[in-house]
Formats: sequence, structure tokens, C-alpha cells
Amino acid sequence: MVFYKGRRGDIISRLPNGKIALVNKRAERIPKPGEKWVCRIDFEKPKFAVVTPIQRIVKKPVYKVIQYACGHSKKIRLYDKEMPENEEPEIRVTKFSDVCEKCKENCKHENIENEIDLWDFGLIIRTVCKGCRKVIEEIDFSDVINENKGFFGTDFNKVREAVRQRISDPELQRKVLTEIDKEEQYVKEYNEKLEQTNKLSQKREEIIDKIKRFIKENYEDYKELQFYGIEIEKDRIRYPIGITKVIDKEIGPGFYEYSTTAIYNNIHISEMSEELRKLFEEYHKISKELDVINQWLIENRPVE
Ligand SMILES: [Zn+2]
Ligand SMILES: [Zn+2]
Repeated sequence: MVFYKGRRGDIISRLPNGKIALVNKRAERIPKPGEKWVCRIDFEKPKFAVVTPIQRIVKKPVYKVIQYACGHSKKIRLYDKEMPENEEPEIRVTKFSDVCEKCKENCKHENIENEIDLWDFGLIIRTVCKGCRKVIEEIDFSDVINENKGFFGTDFNKVREAVRQRISDPELQRKVLTEIDKEEQYVKEYNEKLEQTNKLSQKREEIIDKIKRFIKENYEDYKELQFYGIEIEKDRIRYPIGITKVIDKEIGPGFYEYSTTAIYNNIHISEMSEELRKLFEEYHKISKELDVINQWLIENRPVE
């Protein structure tokens, strides 16, 4: 409740229902005009109420404290917040892995380390100060790495040559070259698998064509449709021979929602000729191989 001076000079307030609130004569603390207090309502009469102020509400700042790695910290006043006067101001602590601005300025960069940042699309060598994390030197290799394809379109020997020219420290040079060897190995393996999937997919397409042709020639009810496809399941081959309307749900008496569904014809393996069975087995063998390679490609895809 916010208190103010009434017409007769006494300190009063209003209840949320608009009723005048007078301060209890026995109250230990009397609010000053403009102050905000948490009050207890002692009693209410039809025209007024008597209250006892319990706790003064004041505005206190909320602080943000940044703790730096060097042990220094910075206190920033964020905003003011209303709270009971006996409560401590709120402090939010944020820890930084960096040192403070002053330590950064005064750093002599005596303790430095090298960072090799190699990913599928680039290579950057950084000399970084361990104390202030400042990058002292940066060697970029983007001019010898394919802009769009990264290491997937790069001549690795050119990169090696650039490493030998631009990095003088023999220890660092050796480390970088090792990383490049690893990347080359990975790119090679990835490309090989990619080529394998292309070959296998093409082979599987050819088998499906053969199966289609076989069905066309040997089964009378075959119809070529615009959505023509073929599904090979464990014990049968499914191929669509038409479409039909099916009731999805009843939306009212006599009203239905329809959707169209394909009608399939099934050929069971037991009905298959030896020729079709062989195609079928081959199809499954290739599919399994493809699954394994595709899984590898997904798990080892390039990182941008
Ligand atoms: Zn500091
Ligand atoms: Zn430094």
C-alpha cells in the first residue's frame, strides 16, 4: 500500500477496494508520505479500515557481477527492483573464461600456444596467448582449399606445400601435416563409399526394371499407372494396379471424409518363378549393402 497525507494532515492509504485505510495508533512504525508498505488489515468498517504497516518496500538495484579468469570481477548495475527493505540486493554472477580488459591490456603474451583448426572446409593455424586468449598470429589456408567443396575438391599436395612454406616451426609443421594426412584418408574413404552407393543404386534400379518387365509379361492384371511403383517386401512383391476411395472418418450422419488409396497386387514368393526369385534375392542383397554404406555416409558426413 502507498501512503499519502490526508486532508486533515494524517497519513492514510487506500485498500484495493477503494476504502480509506487509517494507520493503527498502536503501530510501531508510521509510514511517511509516498512510501510503500506491506500491511496487515486490523479491521474494516463500512467507511474505513485500520491497518498496521509491517514491512517497507523499497527500490534496490539488481547487480550483474562478471568474474574473470584472472580473479578480477566487474559489477554492473542492471535495474532497480522493489523489495522488502531488509532484503539483500540481488546479485547475478556470470563466470568468464577470459581475463579482464585490464589484464588483457597489460598482458605480455609470454605464454603462447598453437591451435590447429582443421575442419572439412578449411584450415587455420592460430598462435594464441594462454593468458589473455589473444590471437597473436593467424595463418589461413583458404587460398589453397576449394571454396565450395572444401577438402573434397582440394589438391592435398598443394596444401602440404603451403604448410611447409608458411609454418617455420618444424614441430608444428609435422603436427599439421599429420592432420592433413588424416583428412586426406577420410576424404578418400568417403568418396569411395559414395561411388559404391551410386553403383549399387544403379544396379538395384536395373533389377527393379527387370522385375517390372517380368511382371508385365507374366501377369495379366498388370496395369501401368502414373504413380507406378514397386515394393519388395520380405515374402512378396507389391505393385499398384489401381486406386480406390476409402472412408477415412464419419463427420456426421451420412457424411464421410474420403481419401484415395492404392490397390496393390501381391505376388507371393511361393508363386514366383526361379528367374524372379533370383532377381528378388539379388535385390535384397544389394539393399542390405546399400543400407550399411548409407549408414556410414550419414555417420561420417562432412562437417561444415
Ligand atoms: Zn584481470
Ligand atoms: Zn596475452
